Amino acid sequence: MTAIVWFRRDLRLADNPALLAGHAHANNIVPVFIYAPHEEAPWEPGAASNWWLHHSLAALQRELAARGSKLVIRRGDSLSVLQELITETGADAVFWNRLYEPAIIARDKMLKVALKADGLVAESFNAALINEPWTIQTDAGAPYKVFTPYWRKARRVLPEIAVTAAPAAIASTPVALESLDISALDLLPTLAWAEGFADVWTPGEAGGLERLDTFVASVLQDYAEGRNHPGRVANSKLSPHLHFGEVSPRQVAVAVLQATAESAALDTSAEKYLAEIGWREFAHNLLYYFPETTEQPLYTKFHSFPWRDSNNADYRAWSAGSTGIPFIDAGMRELWQTGWMHNRVRMVVASFLTKNQMVSWREGASWFWDTLVDADLASNTLGWQWAAGCGADAAPFFRIFNPVRQGERFDTEGIYVRQWCPELSALTTKQLQQPWTVSAEQLGAVGVILGENYPEPVIDLAQSRKDALEAYALMRELG
Ligand code: FAD
Repeated sequence: MTAIVWFRRDLRLADNPALLAGHAHANNIVPVFIYAPHEEAPWEPGAASNWWLHHSLAALQRELAARGSKLVIRRGDSLSVLQELITETGADAVFWNRLYEPAIIARDKMLKVALKADGLVAESFNAALINEPWTIQTDAGAPYKVFTPYWRKARRVLPEIAVTAAPAAIASTPVALESLDISALDLLPTLAWAEGFADVWTPGEAGGLERLDTFVASVLQDYAEGRNHPGRVANSKLSPHLHFGEVSPRQVAVAVLQATAESAALDTSAEKYLAEIGWREFAHNLLYYFPETTEQPLYTKFHSFPWRDSNNADYRAWSAGSTGIPFIDAGMRELWQTGWMHNRVRMVVASFLTKNQMVSWREGASWFWDTLVDADLASNTLGWQWAAGCGADAAPFFRIFNPVRQGERFDTEGIYVRQWCPELSALTTKQLQQPWTVSAEQLGAVGVILGENYPEPVIDLAQSRKDALEAYALMRELG
């Protein structure tokens, strides 16, 4: 018997229930990846995600080959490709792991019905979350909109979690199957833009597990204290590995809980870290129950907010990391050069765009969508609506981050700004976060000329804050 295991964003062999189900059902497994970005419209993966996918598929190919199997890569409509493969291999079953984006849920539902109607076994599993959305609701059966009570309930399952190992061997079908080369999918950018990504990342299961091990062994201890400081190595950087399912949240939780069982000193950091994994789950819950939030604010009053058009020089300066406000520019350059940005800085640059610049959170979300290697519809939507003040458990609109104060507080020694804005390196730490307050003479003495080798600020922080608060007050009055 032959079963098809359809890989999607579960690009791993360990703790993969669809792969296990294939093994239990059949002697031969056909692992397939179908490239069908049009089925995810309007949120087809962006350029940075595609870079990751290219390398992650190559890694999966190697892992499968080491176990005697071969990844089949095809492109087209998922259902048609699966039906072709069923005909070619005589498979009687298709197994996959579930995803929760609205377009994918609709596609998968249709596909399951069609396969079953053809007399096939078609089954899906949970591989991407600790708790699937429909398992966590308020006692009254409603979705949660606030994180703390959500996590209080969701966290209860953690002690029961177990994970499974990767199979040692995977029996292949004797039928020779055509497969595309990964390069035929044209996933890599044509510009040299992503060249630096490979210095930071190792896409694939082995790279993800290694990052998890290193994090738990030597970084987790500083997480509670250090996680807000972008100049420190205190975060796990597991987000793209989790997004592509190279590592599962169950594996992460088990590793963290095991470490705390061995050392009680890790308790506070571990709890904080597990709660962040909880935010990821909360984001998926919200997307499942409020699928319209990818386009619309959860708090509908914001429909009438007078967002500015993003087709302006200020927005271009924001995306290029040339606003003249060092903490913002450092974040946007880190994003462009590595495909990732520290969470504290994501919150600050998003507040700056939506509040000081009054450009819609949707514009910011699309820029992140294209440039983040961890771009994830659930977490990105929640993050942007949270920062703009219109989402679940959101920071109120009137709480506007001051990027200078944020830099002084969380980049105390200026390590982060100096790394990404090296033209400002010679300034003192006190001057670094607001060079426009330093005299031209002092700046010149260390080689900084505002407007020449570093921009003047594109916006007055105090005035733009005032304008945003006025617009907000008007929206509340009218709404
Ligand atoms: P760690 O601090 O090590 O946390 C561990 C894991 O917990 C992360 O890998 C992630 O899976 C999860 N997590 C942590 N914080 C959050 C959060 N606030 N919301 C949801 N999950 C969280 N995260 C994405 O994965 N994809 C996105 O597209 C994304 N867009 C964002 C946009 C904005 C405006 C904001 C404010 C946040 C966004 N986040 C997004 C959440 C967060 O910034 C990243 O998950 C985090 O920075 C990833 O780095 P890390 O793996 O080192 O996190």
